[in-house]
Amino acid sequence: MKKFLSIENLTILGIILGILVGIYIPELALNLKILGDIFLNLLKMIVIPLIFVSIFVSISTLSSANDFKDLGIKAFLYYLATTTIAVITGLLVANIFPFSISDINLSSNSVDIKKLTFESFINNLIPSNIFESFAEGKSIHVIIFSILLAIAVLYIKQEKKQLIVNLFDGLNDAFLLIAKWIIYLSPIGVFALISSIVAEKGIKVIIDLWQYVLIVLIGIIWHFAVNLGLIAYLVGKVNPVEYFNKVKEAILVAFSTCSSSATLPVSLEVAEKEAKIPKKVAGFVLPLGATINMDGTALYEAVAALFIAHVFGIELSLLQQIIVVITSTLASIGAAAIPSAGLITMTLVFSSVGLPLEGIALIVAVDRFLDMFRTSTNVWGDLIGAKVISRFIK
Ligand code: ASP
Repeated sequence: MKKFLSIENLTILGIILGILVGIYIPELALNLKILGDIFLNLLKMIVIPLIFVSIFVSISTLSSANDFKDLGIKAFLYYLATTTIAVITGLLVANIFPFSISDINLSSNSVDIKKLTFESFINNLIPSNIFESFAEGKSIHVIIFSILLAIAVLYIKQEKKQLIVNLFDGLNDAFLLIAKWIIYLSPIGVFALISSIVAEKGIKVIIDLWQYVLIVLIGIIWHFAVNLGLIAYLVGKVNPVEYFNKVKEAILVAFSTCSSSATLPVSLEVAEKEAKIPKKVAGFVLPLGATINMDGTALYEAVAALFIAHVFGIELSLLQQIIVVITSTLASIGAAAIPSAGLITMTLVFSSVGLPLEGIALIVAVDRFLDMFRTSTNVWGDLIGAKVISRFIK
């Protein structure tokens, strides 16, 4: 009985009940939304402090700057390889099952589409005021600052170094404990989030865009189960099903919050405590991965590009599809780890191959639904990354 009532099972129950209540008693769902907001706020409250200290602890417990280089290069190679595989999977699925929709109402939705340029993307990487970055929750800035600080600390006098490392290490444990307390609330939080989303959006929109939804889902599920499963098995030398069972709470929270960043406290907790991944690997690979490694997002952006090309009757050549692979990968790196971020960076992909940006308005209705699946895949990719990389770090 106790095993059955585990937090993971209760969270699954929360998702199922959330869908039912969202469909059949939408007024109740909307009234309970506040519970979901509280849960989400608690996760967001802890995430920036956690990113700051966990990256610091991870790097400062490495024995030298060279070890950091080693960890960084391996993590980066993993992110790049898996994201590229994800995009190619998306393009293959969309080419194998070509779209055949022709009667979409182009004026059905409107979105405020701002174009993202490559320059602003690069420029935005460097923080000019770190306190502002903390206050605004800009995780990439916090990561960069934390890496710099940790490398600097590697070079200062041993006794001072030890003092700072101990302080951060203690904070890290305390923050993870807070994360654990928040996880106890996840069945209720997840229930409230899912039911209010279903109540707000309805499920009819999914039916209207079923072909697009189906192809994104086939691609995402394939990448989640087959590609990442094989990578876990062959490279990480771990049984993916067993590993999934250890970390599934993070996947469920990702599914319901649609935010890799809000899920990070949970991912760190399960990776370190359940899957026993060393702190120095999990503490670096997970926060960085939550911010830049988004397989699900990249795959979805590529399929969206092909879908919009189809709707507007534009034929994408092989070269253009290769450009889609590159820009979708970049766009997923640039996407913030928050709900619907992928929709914004998608402008980068569209403009690289001359697709009309208004096309985004067509798919916005199902974005939140697909976000659940792509965020789960993003987080699963990070967690497998932590496992794989821990095998290759001394
Ligand atoms: N919601 C996604 C995440 O946080 C990003 C996106 O694809 O919109 O991982």
